[in-house]
Amino acid sequence: MNSAADAIVIGGGIIGLASAYHLSKRGQKVILLEKKYPGSGSTGRCIGGIRQQFSTPGAIRLMRESVRQFRLMRKEFGFSVEYFEGGYLFLAHDAKRLETFKSILPLQKSLGLAVEILDASACMKIAPPLNPTGLLGGVFSPEDGQAYPFKVIEGYIQEIRKLHSQVLFFCEVSEIIVNKTAVTGVKTVNGDIFYAPVILNAAGPWAQEVGKMAGLELPIAPEEHEAFITDRVPPLFATMVVDYRTDGCYFYQRNNGQVIGCYSPIPNKPGIITESSLEFLVEMSRRTARLVPELATARVIRHWGGCYSMTPDGSPFIDKTDVDGFFVANGMSGHGFMFAPAIGRYVSEIILDGRYPFDWSEFAMGRDFSRQELMK
Ligand SMILES: Cc1cc2nc3c(=O)[nH]c(=O)nc-3n(C[C@H](O)[C@H](O)[C@H](O)COP(=O)(O)OP(=O)(O)OC[C@H]3O[C@@H](n4cnc5c(N)ncnc54)[C@H](O)[C@@H]3O)c2cc1C
Repeated sequence: MNSAADAIVIGGGIIGLASAYHLSKRGQKVILLEKKYPGSGSTGRCIGGIRQQFSTPGAIRLMRESVRQFRLMRKEFGFSVEYFEGGYLFLAHDAKRLETFKSILPLQKSLGLAVEILDASACMKIAPPLNPTGLLGGVFSPEDGQAYPFKVIEGYIQEIRKLHSQVLFFCEVSEIIVNKTAVTGVKTVNGDIFYAPVILNAAGPWAQEVGKMAGLELPIAPEEHEAFITDRVPPLFATMVVDYRTDGCYFYQRNNGQVIGCYSPIPNKPGIITESSLEFLVEMSRRTARLVPELATARVIRHWGGCYSMTPDGSPFIDKTDVDGFFVANGMSGHGFMFAPAIGRYVSEIILDGRYPFDWSEFAMGRDFSRQELMK
């Protein structure tokens, strides 16, 4: 099959879908090619957390826009994506962490975030079952929250198709066709050729592989992160709790009573690994029960592995590249689900209008990586 479009999106995770949606809304005929099925990469393995509390102006602005869009999704898609603002409570068990939270506050407030520093007793009011041992305080925003990733995927696919663009499953791109210095199309393992003057790399953990097809080396390193979900338990609290200790974890209770959460392994586990490990199951259970003792008897019903796509500074690449017509939205560094609605919109503006919505230095290709995200 040979086919032509205005733009080709490689990857049917949340980033590719949001981008295809916004490009289609702007009147573009888009073909999205997904090697398996939408959400089969990182997106179907994420826990659905959404927060605006970041330490850099670009990430906060991105998240202001994403939250604006999450709030509108029920109306836009015609069904609920289970978006709920129960807040994010970041905990400090050492003075340095609390100082870091305090140091970021002026920037966050200047960009309009509803965020406040809390002492330990105020944290306990938000989440009474927390174990107070060693807790010094925290930082809280009631406007952070959660949504159900599979519903968001479903909404985007529905809307993309209504706009007469295509989402094709089991179409793995094996080659990007570059004519001199510009992309012109892609070939798939099925032997199909699709032509377009614009190609977006939205291949998540496989971004490097896809970048190489266009002759680019992207400094993105996939690493494994696991998650678990428990059986339903009686109501605990509405917020996501983030325990920043080196053996901490983060979790929240879904509206159906299940508790879902993760931790970031130290040292990290590099590679595209999606195994679930006994180590995680044991450690996550221990860490969860330490933070909220009444969860010690909760039953874990599932645990699984997935990937973060890390950049050297923890911020994504959302940019054009040196190859004409080839764009990237990669390296989400663990925040792609929450970033996606904004990235979808802004990448469409970068592609179609050739302009950045605000100071884009923290998402630019070729930046120097000296700025580190402090709330990873
Ligand atoms: C355990 C865990 C918990 C997480 N929790 C959160 C959270 O609470 N909040 C949050 O914001 N983020 C979270 N994340 C991160 C989030 O899942 C990712 O940042 C996000 O899903 C990235 O989306 P993506 O579209 O870039 O990548 P993916 O979802 O991986 O999509 C990329 C797609 O590209 C396809 N692809 C690859 N190569 C090709 C090819 N050659 N041709 C065609 N298709 C191709 C893949 O099959 C895949 O479907 C979590 C991740 C994990 C693992």
